[in-house]
Amino acid sequence: MTSDVGPPKIHRFTVGDLSCAVISDGQPEPPLAPALSDFFTPETGVPAPELRAAAERAGRTTLTCGYNCLCVRTPDGLAVIDTGLGKGFLGYGPHITPLVGGFCAGLAASGLGEPAALVLTHLHEDHVRGAIWPGEPVFPEARAFAHAAEIAFWSRDDRLPREQREPARRAIGLLGERLRPVEYDVELLPGVRTVDAAGHTPGHTAILLGSRGERLLCLGDTFYDPLQLAHPDWRTPWDHDARRSVAGRRRLLAWAAEENVPVHAYHLPFPGLGLVSRRGDAFAWRPL
Ligand SMILES: [Zn+2]
Repeated sequence: MTSDVGPPKIHRFTVGDLSCAVISDGQPEPPLAPALSDFFTPETGVPAPELRAAAERAGRTTLTCGYNCLCVRTPDGLAVIDTGLGKGFLGYGPHITPLVGGFCAGLAASGLGEPAALVLTHLHEDHVRGAIWPGEPVFPEARAFAHAAEIAFWSRDDRLPREQREPARRAIGLLGERLRPVEYDVELLPGVRTVDAAGHTPGHTAILLGSRGERLLCLGDTFYDPLQLAHPDWRTPWDHDARRSVAGRRRLLAWAAEENVPVHAYHLPFPGLGLVSRRGDAFAWRPL
């Protein structure tokens, strides 16, 4: 299969003593970028005229959906925070298949070595599939971490649509005993700490990197688009708990703004790094 992912996209930076790199798994560009109206719908509380007005102000009708995997070198080895969609992905319309799955080539090109740990902000397919395609663990030596409530939820709930449930179940099964359930506010590896971001999914987890007084807050799927900073109450169909997802988004963005903590956003345009500031009752995003 030919790939349009192109040369590996790697953005290197440091947080104190931690060497970090954002490695892109891919980023469907227009005309294959998804429509804003797929993410923000009347059913999720966003009236169509309000979305049209915001899209007009922003000068776009699509969302640039990146898959920004974050690698962190710690004294206990390399941690990879979320693993992308992986190769041969047939969902979201088969046309994006050649546009994603670039993480492994990027990791090899980065020279960072093999991951010692996979830190999963949650178990949606676009965060875990890169760890298990095409049906076996891609990093067999790595431990994996996900919140206990996340693992319990996907293991048990049969009411969800099959296409949502199956990838999480497959990841739980294939990672097996290497997947460790964790709680909020614990240090997984030196300088890598879990933060409560529940709402998007029951165990959705933000990650705070910290070293020598520098920090980076990795927000996972707390928001998909900068429009959600201007409109923090806008949800998407993939936010499981409406009230908690909005409250969590407001709480985490307020924290990032008040303490000026740089943010890593998984789905923003590569590399997804920026600063959050207050704008009245809402927020604004400034890419770094
Ligand atoms: Zn996602």
